[in-house]
Amino acid sequence: MAVVAVLDPIADSAMALLRRHVEVLPPPAASWPERADGIVVRASPVGAAAILTASRLRVIGKHGVGTDNIDLEAVAQRQVVVAKTPAANADAVAELAIGFMLALLRRVAWHDRGIRIQASSAAPPVGRELKGARLGLLGFGAIGQRVARIARMGFEAEVAAYDPFVQPPRDLQVRMLDSASALCAQSDILSVHLPLTSETRGLVGARLLSALPQGAFVVNTGRGGVVEEVALLAALRGGRLAGAGLDVFEQEPPTAELALLEHPNVVTTPHIGASTREAMERMGRSVVEQVLDVLGVEWRREEERHA
Ligand code: NAD
Repeated sequence: MAVVAVLDPIADSAMALLRRHVEVLPPPAASWPERADGIVVRASPVGAAAILTASRLRVIGKHGVGTDNIDLEAVAQRQVVVAKTPAANADAVAELAIGFMLALLRRVAWHDRGIRIQASSAAPPVGRELKGARLGLLGFGAIGQRVARIARMGFEAEVAAYDPFVQPPRDLQVRMLDSASALCAQSDILSVHLPLTSETRGLVGARLLSALPQGAFVVNTGRGGVVEEVALLAALRGGRLAGAGLDVFEQEPPTAELALLEHPNVVTTPHIGASTREAMERMGRSVVEQVLDVLGVEWRREEERHA
């Protein structure tokens, strides 16, 4: 019987499906390199040493889309398939990105803190609306496009994007710009939806941030390393940025000393973009099905028989 190691918790239904067809090493499955034919991983690091010594390994199932926690160079040296779950979490992450935008525009966290400590403000800050705001999407894949759809059709925002690798769907009225700096120059809100690669690491740094209009907001639900935290803090302190919404950090979890966490105009969540019940079910099911398929496990007919 094939052995599949599950390195991080996944939806119960996905775990049950896996257990019906293979031997499962449950999280954290630290001994996986010795025994596993396949692994399922969310954010745990899968390093070169483990990949190169795991002689039985044939498939790495990535629960999600960002593969920056997997050493792909080591994977390339082996006959190992990496299976991802594209789009399964797009709704969840897009909704969080929109949530950050609304929280920043209306200063929800700031007011929440004020009300709790009974702080009176003679002139409470006036909010802004997403309707009519210029939203710039850096990265226009599954999540960027979902954000565009919600912002355009639900809120009537003006949406532009930079992504040289995709054609926008016809029905979405989105202006595609030809550089990240052109996008920043025209964005009241910059929302980052890029993977972390050698090209995107530190892309949103001092240069791009200074291209944003005065009083702009930055939302990052992509990957922490894409936005330079030192430059972001400087832009907030200098007043160019009115606020930032961050689900992801250069180091996760961020340390308590991270000065960004102290800034009153920063709203954060601890990398929970894809953590909804619905997305966890979709990602879990999709990753398990793909791992079983790569391992050649005949699971579909048996599942139908028991349905
Ligand atoms: P996707 O692959 O569908 O889209 C990524 C897009 O980025 C692609 O269209 C690609 O062409 C574009 N891109 C890559 N390099 C670029 C560059 N240098 N300049 C401009 N565009 C570039 O992925 P997705 O599902 O939309 O997810 C986007 C990212 O969001 C993921 O890679 C992941 O890092 C992150 N993510 C975060 C969470 C979370 O919990 N916060 C959850 C899921 C995904």
